[in-house]
Amino acid sequence: MFDLDGLLVDSEDAWGRAERAVVEGLGCPWDPAVRTLLLGRGPADAAAVLAEFLDLHDPDEIGRRLLAAAEAEFRRGVPLLPGAGRLVAGLRGRLPLGVATNSLRRLAELAIASVALEGVFDAIVCADDVERPKPAPDLYTTACALLGADPARSVAFEDSPVGMRAARAAGLWVVGCPSFPGQPTDAAHAVIGSLREVDPGELLAAG
Ligand SMILES: [Mg+2]
Repeated sequence: MFDLDGLLVDSEDAWGRAERAVVEGLGCPWDPAVRTLLLGRGPADAAAVLAEFLDLHDPDEIGRRLLAAAEAEFRRGVPLLPGAGRLVAGLRGRLPLGVATNSLRRLAELAIASVALEGVFDAIVCADDVERPKPAPDLYTTACALLGADPARSVAFEDSPVGMRAARAAGLWVVGCPSFPGQPTDAAHAVIGSLREVDPGELLAAG
């Protein structure tokens, strides 16, 4: 089971540009702290946190602006992260593969299409498919159910603390692959520096 943003695709720059455009469009100065504050959060949560950070009172409007700005950035394309293509290709057709993302489906599908991974995953569960996004376990629980996979025999790859907590709460074995140095990884069972470190053959042998 894979997270998407910051794990398979390098959408952080796209999100950073989108967030900066929204913040400055609201007449506020850009503060790079926004990037880490919003990392891995679901759309409603991100809008609420940003509204509070900017001391503005219309999270719905901020949410709409964030989505529109992100969609424009994602349409320009987002790159695959190192090791992601090789890992997914090595597992495809040999293990059920899922994506559990706090992104909205329209953004997730743009991202997956831009790195030519359409049709690769047996289940893609997005923030709009569940009641509670990460850090709640719902995305992972739903994705495991769709795959017919026992969470206790499933592995999750996550870059964000929020995502690691979600996967852990759903009962998966969690591999943390932080996208920023110094991010907390205490919810992960194992921590790696890059997906390049994962040997698909070893994962298959362990299964
Ligand atoms: Mg992520």
